[in-house]
This record gives sequence, structure tokens and C-alpha cells, in this order.
Amino acid sequence: MRGLRWALVGASDIAATRIVPAMRRLGHEVSAVLSTSPERGRAYAAANGIPVATTALDGLLARDDVDAVYISTTNELHHSQTLAAAAAGKHVLCEKPLALSVDDAWEMIEACREAGVVLATNHHLPAAATHRVIRQLVADGAVGRPLAVRVFHAGHLPDRLQGWRLTGQGRGAGVILDVTCHDAAAVWAILGRDALEAAAVAVRQGPWGAVAEDAVVSALRYEGDVLVQTHDAFTVAYARTGLEVYGEEGSIVAVDVMTQDPGGQVTLRDRSGEHEVQVPDRRDLYEVALEAFAGAVRGDGRPVVDGVDGARALAVALAVKEAAESGRTVAVARGRDGTPPYEERKEDGRA
Ligand code: NDP
Repeated sequence: MRGLRWALVGASDIAATRIVPAMRRLGHEVSAVLSTSPERGRAYAAANGIPVATTALDGLLARDDVDAVYISTTNELHHSQTLAAAAAGKHVLCEKPLALSVDDAWEMIEACREAGVVLATNHHLPAAATHRVIRQLVADGAVGRPLAVRVFHAGHLPDRLQGWRLTGQGRGAGVILDVTCHDAAAVWAILGRDALEAAAVAVRQGPWGAVAEDAVVSALRYEGDVLVQTHDAFTVAYARTGLEVYGEEGSIVAVDVMTQDPGGQVTLRDRSGEHEVQVPDRRDLYEVALEAFAGAVRGDGRPVVDGVDGARALAVALAVKEAAESGRTVAVARGRDGTPPYEERKEDGRA
């Protein structure tokens, strides 16, 4: 079967370093790239072997050699570009955070539903085999009733990414929209429970005069009174990452699993002792996500993280941000109309 034919919306680092290589390994094609700069677009196309570079979104979306778009522009553009792609009948794989407001995210979801195109959010962690193994352990009752989750996701922002994430006022700068939203996507995938409220403390620790927080600690209450804590940072050079799930009957301790690479170890501790859990599948996370996306386009299965899951992760991140800025505990936004939006996902058997 022919692979998908993609247009890249955004001449980004993540497309060049992770997504285009993963697309090609799967036999997908990249037909064109959109950049706001003709020179950068041409240089990017040449460097990445892409036949067409353009500055015109309408023209890109009208191309008949494009089945789907991968949107990896800065965050404030995801909403309008997704609406345009849906109107043009193109499937959408959109980078996280899906949008800058929950309402915008829901408008994207509804536009894609109405257009009959697939919308996925490129949260990579739920695609990791380690995370899928943890989710299965929890679903199988290996830890009993879940009580708490701890997420360690502090790292050091590489030099080449020290741009809009630090200085992009209005672009969704800051570590919360960059990293905490990934934590939220990962915790939802593992627990299948919604976050209800968030408290947080955020600081600016780095040497770069950031316009937004570059380190944050959050404390969240999830359905069933599960407590979740996260530490996310751009400032910590030598940390390991990890995710731990504590339950009444056991605990899962996973190290080096909050990364873009398919490594890490998972250990289960329970009354019988401590056991390393085998994770034989070490496929590239982005390949797993792209493969599921292509399946959904064919009508076979669903994306690893769809639009609703992306909206859910965004809602958690925005609550953490508001909590950090206000010093108050903040309710996590539900659906557009204030009702719990996620019931259908649970009925789906997804949780
Ligand atoms: P980049 O900064 O590389 O690219 C974002 C935009 O910035 C591009 O669309 C491009 O504009 C512009 N740009 C790129 N290079 C330059 C330059 N040298 N001078 C001026 N403008 C430039 O972003 P990232 O790849 O880091 O992130 C893109 C999106 O992907 C974000 O939404 C981010 O949150 C997400 N992301 C997701 C990851 C994941 O694992 N899921 C990992 C990393 C990022 P133009 O297109 O107009 O040329």
C-alpha cells in the first residue's frame, strides 16, 4: 500500500530531525514544505530533499499530491493552520500544544470532524513501548488501585532550541506548554483518568532572560483522588527522567522514559519483590505515531494521541500555568460548554 504524501507546514527543527526521517523510513513521501521565508524554505527543502518549497498555505493545501499535513510551526499558528487544512480536506498531524486555548483546540477538533479528516496531536510519549507497557500493567491491576504518579521531566534546552520557547511572547513560550503538556498526555494514556485541579509553582532559573517560566513543579488531583506531581525544566543539565506509578498493591518505577528516544527501563515492585519488566519493542516513537496516523486515515484504528487527547493535555497545561501565575489552585477546563468532554473516549474503550 502506498505511504501517505505529506506537506510540512513549518520549516522546523523537529520536522528535519525526527519526523521527516521517520516518514521516509515508513515509505511515506514529503511533497512540499511551507515557510514564511522564501530563502529559508528553499534552503530547508534542499537540505531535506523536499521537491517544493512555498510561502503560500492555500497553494500548498490545494496540491493533489498531498494527503496530509504535518503542522510544526510555532504554537500560535497551529489553530488557524489546522482549520485551513481541514477546510481543504487534508488530514492533520499537529504538533503540541494543540493550540493556545482549549476553545481553539475544540474548534480544531470539530472542524476536522466536520471535514471528515483525521486529527492527531504529536505527543510522542504515549507511543513509547515503555509507556504502553506501564499502561498495560496499570490496566491489568499490577499496582492495584492507583494512588499517585510522579513525573520527572527536567532537562536542558539545547542551544539550537533557545529561541521562541524562551522569548516568544504570544507564541506559547515557557516550559509548561512545551513539556508539562507532554506529561499530561503521558499520564492520561497510562491512567485513563482526567485531571480535575492543579496547583503549581514556576520560576525563571536560566541565564537567558526568558519571558516565561523555565522550570515548574505542579501538583494535580485526578479523578478517583489520584495525586500527580511533575517537575519540568529547561534548566537541568544532568537529570535522568522518569515516571513512577504508586498503587495499593505495587509500584512501577520507570527511568529514562520521558525522552524522544525508545530507551528506558521499567521496574515493578510488589509484595513478591522487585522485577524488571521486559520491553522488547524499541521502535522509534514517531514511527509508531505516524503508523497509527496512517492507519486512521485508512479507517483502520485511531491515532495514538488524537485531537481530543491533545485538547485534554492542553487543558492540564493551561491550568498548571494559571495556577503558577495566580498562586491559586485552578480547576482543569472541561469541554467547550463546560461539561465533561471526554466521556466518548472512555466509551470507546480507550481508557
Ligand atoms: P523551530 O523553531 O525549529 O520551528 C518553528 C518555526 O520557526 C518554523 O515554522 C520556522 O518558520 C521558524 N524558524 C525555524 N528556524 C528559523 C530561523 N533560523 N529563523 C527564523 N525562523 C525560524 O521549532 P521546533 O521544531 O522546535 O518546534 C516546532 C513545533 O513542534 C512546536 O509546536 C513545538 O512545541 C513542537 N515540538 C514537538 C516535539 C515533540 O516531540 N512532539 C519536539 C519539538 C518540538 P517558517 O516555517 O516560517 O520557516
